[in-house]
Parts: sequence; structure tokens; C-alpha cells
Amino acid sequence: MSWLIRDVSLADGRTGVDVRLDGGVIAEIGTGLNLRGETEVDGDGAVLLPGLHDHHIHLHGTAAARESIDCTTGLAALRTATTPRVRAVGAGVSVDRHTLDQLVPDRPVRVQHRSGALWMLNTAALAELAPLPHLPGIERDATGEPTGRLWRLDDLLRGTWPPRGDLTALGRELTAFGITGVTDATPGLADPPALPQHVTVLGERKLLLHDHDLPGYDELRDRIAALHRRGLPVAVHCVTRVSLLLTLAVLDEVGTLPGDRIEHGAVVPDPEQLRGLTVVTQPGFVVANRERYRAEVDPDDLPHLYPYATLLTAGVAVLPSSDAPYGPLDPWAIMRAAASRELGAHERVPVRTVLDGFLHDAELRPRSITAGATADLVLLAAPLPTALDSPDAALVQHVWIGGNQVR
Ligand SMILES: [Zn+2]
Repeated sequence: MSWLIRDVSLADGRTGVDVRLDGGVIAEIGTGLNLRGETEVDGDGAVLLPGLHDHHIHLHGTAAARESIDCTTGLAALRTATTPRVRAVGAGVSVDRHTLDQLVPDRPVRVQHRSGALWMLNTAALAELAPLPHLPGIERDATGEPTGRLWRLDDLLRGTWPPRGDLTALGRELTAFGITGVTDATPGLADPPALPQHVTVLGERKLLLHDHDLPGYDELRDRIAALHRRGLPVAVHCVTRVSLLLTLAVLDEVGTLPGDRIEHGAVVPDPEQLRGLTVVTQPGFVVANRERYRAEVDPDDLPHLYPYATLLTAGVAVLPSSDAPYGPLDPWAIMRAAASRELGAHERVPVRTVLDGFLHDAELRPRSITAGATADLVLLAAPLPTALDSPDAALVQHVWIGGNQVR
């Protein structure tokens, strides 16, 4: 199917532009283009943008979270469970299996801590995993009995319950936000989940540094060097000062590849040290978790939390992302968060900066509306200045992915 989108404005300031889509690509850009049997869409002066790309998301986790019990306001929500197995997310407390048994004694319960690092299982859920392997992440009490707390053991749990999470619904949700591509940052995920969006998986390139059990310098150096030798840039999860310093020291020795990324960069005391790298940040966290960060983050770290503006000033590339399900998914809410954050107000950046970040592709390259480019497009319902004044998902009017209109 081919399209002629009439009278749109572009992010570079051009107005009154017609854009022809054919064969999945942008075939022609001009003014007063002749109709050649395409379906016409009248842009009415609104802005046509490349589709947004979420640079760090966990697709299966996000889909599952949509069908899980929300424990952000407390574990009492578990009492509402009606399913034979209970999956819950967003817990802010760390409890053992006995506490969970009191809430749900009769069927397996898995509760994910909001950090994503910890799963808490009740006795029935632990029994399903028997015999439990001996892994450092399986916490045990003084008598050697598992407490039900599993640290960083997503791999152990993955696939042990019937698949949940409706990717079709998630695909629609992403489309409604104008997202035409995502990078799934789940470590080790090999196969791109099937969605209407373009999906890139970081897979083995994603290095998760466990802050309670950091790898040694030599181990991390060898892992990064091995990936680099294969031409693969790395994506290193750094949410603390220590993990960032370790990573930077290693990269200083082994060198960087274009495309090397720091995921989160949650605490960056010295942005200058990151020059040449790309930080994939989550401005949504500083708004969604503001009160918790104020209460819990080390006061020495607070001024350096989720930097954006100071990184850009230091010449570090920064791209925005959701880290859903741990952070808010809506990229327009993320733009608002980055531009208006109160925690670290000195790190605010203009909406335009964040939007431009979402317009980069999976290889971290900027995209624009150019002839020959894949027709991944978003037509908003307003000109760009209106969208920048009040970024809102409700502005997303039409979306094309690979030349197919999906909205
Ligand atoms: Zn993540």
C-alpha cells in the first residue's frame, strides 16, 4: 500500500511538504506532488516525524507487568489475587516466604521488587522450583533453608511459568505513543519478541553489573574485550558510582567502540569521564520515584542522579528511554519529566532535546524525514511548536511502520 501525506511540516522547519510512501520507504518529498493512486492523508500543517525509538525497554517484562498485581502501595494487594498463579510487581519492601505465605498460602506467588533485582517467592512457588540449584542469588537462612528471596535470578525463573503478557496489546500501546522501534535491554534475550515495531535486542551485549556482587576488574575487562574483538559494542548497566567507575576504568584500558553505551548512568559524579560514550538514561525515574530517591539515595549521590544536561554539556551523547516496566513507558511523559524535573532541576533539558533523542535509531544515529529512508513515521495532530510546548501522547494521530499504517 502506498500513501501520499499532504501538507505536513518537518522538524527542520520546512512547511507545506508532501511525502510519498511507497514500497515501505519514503519515496519522494516535495510540494504539490501528483497523486499516483496512493491513499491520501491531509496533514493540515501538522508535523511529520520519524517514529520514536525507545532505547531501553524490557518487552516481555512490560507485557507481563500489565497483567500482574500492582504492589506499589503495599503487599495487601496480593489478597485480591484470583489466578492459579500470582505474579506481582512494584513491591517496595523485601519480605520472606513466610510473610507471603500469610497473605497467599494456597498457591504460588512471585513478587518482584520494584528495583527489578529481587524476586520474593512464597513456599508454594519455591516448591515448584525444587530441587533448587545452589546459586549465590538464592538467599538462605542460618539453617540453610531458602528464605524465598531470589536475587538477580530472572534466568532461573524465565520459562518456568506459562508465558504471560500480551505482546499484541503492548504493541498497540507502543503504537499509540508513536513508537516504531525499540531496543530490548534484557540480558541474554536472543530472539526479538514479535511486535509491529522494529525490535533490536542487546542480548549478549548487555552486561549487567550486580552491585552487591560486582565482577572483578579482569573479568569485566575480558568480557568487554571479547565482545569488542567480535565488533560488538557493549551496553553496561551502571546504576552506582562504583559500577560506573569500574566500567570506565575498563573501557579506558580496552578502548571504546562506536555504539558502546552506559545504561542508566544513575549516578555520574564526573560527566567529563564519559566523553565518547552514549548514556541511555531514564528521565521518567526522577519524577516517578522522586520521593523515594529523596528519602533513600545517599545525599552525596543526589546531585548526580540521572544527569542529562550536564552530560550533554560535557560532550557526552545522551538518549532517552523508558526502562519499562521499571519506569513509565510513555515517551511524551518522559519528555515532560526531563524538561520539568524538580529533583536535579539543573539537569533539565528542553523537550526538543529529548524528542530528538527518541528520533535516533537502534544504532544511535539521528534520523530525519529523507527520501529512501524506511517509512517509520508519526504524524502528530499539531505543528511542532505546539507539541514542544505541551508534549502529549494524545497528539499522535497516525503512525506508519515500514510503510504500513498501523494507526
Ligand atoms: Zn533495564
